[in-house]
Amino acid sequence: MNKNGILVVVSGFSGAGKGTLVRKLMEKYDNYALSISMTTRDKREGEENGVHYFFVDHKTFEQNIINDGLLEYASYCGNYYGTPKEYVQKMIADGKDVILEIEVQGALQIKKKFPNTLLLFVTPPNGEELLNRLKTRGTETQEEIMRRVSRAKEEADWITKYDYLVINDNIDECVENLNNMIISAHNTPSRQQDLINKLKYELDSISKGE
Ligand code: 5GP
Repeated sequence: MNKNGILVVVSGFSGAGKGTLVRKLMEKYDNYALSISMTTRDKREGEENGVHYFFVDHKTFEQNIINDGLLEYASYCGNYYGTPKEYVQKMIADGKDVILEIEVQGALQIKKKFPNTLLLFVTPPNGEELLNRLKTRGTETQEEIMRRVSRAKEEADWITKYDYLVINDNIDECVENLNNMIISAHNTPSRQQDLINKLKYELDSISKGE
């Protein structure tokens, strides 16, 4: 295993159930840390500042951009969303796998900056199910729901940039699949460069009879 953790981006259509999925993953396994994003959108009922998001005004958000305090940021349905840098860097250095639950523009910025990032995209089994989930959670107006559906249509064009699709049909199976994908990702050669270098060094010493 790497000493450092890896960055794991979990994206998906609004209403795909990625929030529940990530929460259950965190409850079941303790090697993950969840990044808390900063946003300018209004707090929904039941959401807490510093737990679900850091809710800030536009001026504060833009100050964070200027101060280089964000790993990435994007505009989504009229609001800013971004990943505070400091927490993520600390958790990675502590050996945690850090989950970023972010949309596609942010995901691609992260992949460009950190090519070893694992990109996962969560979808419901079909479009009808997506609409049902958005309606039953009851947190958005009809207009906002339609905005999110049309955004989902745009996001679908970017799915092939991701490493794996996570089809969220049965939530418990989905949590297991997600955990297994992350474990497997640790063992790809590009994420095991230290181990490969150590092996090469040892083989070199042995072949020289040292
Ligand atoms: P919501 O308003 O439903 O909480 O989130 C809207 C979208 O913003 C979701 O797709 C969510 O994953 C994404 N999002 C949340 N935090 C961040 C972030 O820090 N950066 C980016 N790029 N997207 C985010």
